Amino acid sequence: MVRMTTEKNIRQAILYIVATPIGNLDDISVRACHILKSVDIIAAEDTRHSSRLLSHYGIGTSCLSLHEHNEAGRTSQLLDRMGSGHSVALISDAGTPLISDPGYRLVVAVRAAGFDVVPVPGACAFVAALSVAGISTHRFSFEGFLPSTGSQRRSVLDALSAEPRTLVFYESPHRIMSTVKDMRVIFGDERKVSICRELTKRFETVYTASLGQVEDWMSADPNQQRGEFVIVVSEAEGDQVGCQQDWVRAIEELRGYMPLKKACKIVAGLTGASSQQLYRLAEQE
Ligand code: SAM
Repeated sequence: MVRMTTEKNIRQAILYIVATPIGNLDDISVRACHILKSVDIIAAEDTRHSSRLLSHYGIGTSCLSLHEHNEAGRTSQLLDRMGSGHSVALISDAGTPLISDPGYRLVVAVRAAGFDVVPVPGACAFVAALSVAGISTHRFSFEGFLPSTGSQRRSVLDALSAEPRTLVFYESPHRIMSTVKDMRVIFGDERKVSICRELTKRFETVYTASLGQVEDWMSADPNQQRGEFVIVVSEAEGDQVGCQQDWVRAIEELRGYMPLKKACKIVAGLTGASSQQLYRLAEQE
């Protein structure tokens, strides 16, 4: 697919960022199929994985791999191809490229080289999850994947515990239980959460309840720990935010007379909050 520039009548190649399904192969647009058939080359995160989708739609365009380990090298190869007038489509294994997926470096380089980058929108797991979770979509923050180590994960969750917007996370089956447990400790038993599992697939499940109920339900049924997950967490209540601010102010007062650790212990004893969480909150001030 080639665009003609009006000024010099030069063939101008385009980079298309094409969304593909997140499970159900029918979730692809007519335009996406048309573009994937007509470009000169498809850059795919995993060519073997994408061959199923491409053959399902009779798309015979040649493919090359572009993943997080070869993006820099592939970017210069693709820029060369575009310089010769070849148009490129970027796809990832599922959903929208660049959303917790490779492609950012390619987009920056292609735009810097003066070529058009055109979106071909479609499925995206976190948008699908938000649309069904039953948790406010008025304002939200997409957080992607949490860190894989427990301590780093907990410190990111601590930093988000008073966030006044809905929070959206991606999570893998290996870490889903530890993440839900950490969320329960840090956000509290009562915070509303939605576990959106295997969206658009055979075992699609959307369960929205309090963190306490969700942890108990998932622990009781190992099948609910399998597959791909989006976790949607409701915003912190105004009084929760206010409480945390009061706790930090109390710690600030006390630390004039004692070490920070001791101040956190005293406020933890008075409020029932975790002393580690208070320590991390006070450190962020
Ligand atoms: N680019 C993709 C998108 O647009 O959503 C996301 C890619 S990211 C590498 C993969 C993660 O997305 C999974 O680990 C899971 O958290 C989430 N995900 C992808 N497909 C999903 C599905 N069908 N149901 C629930 N979550 C899904």
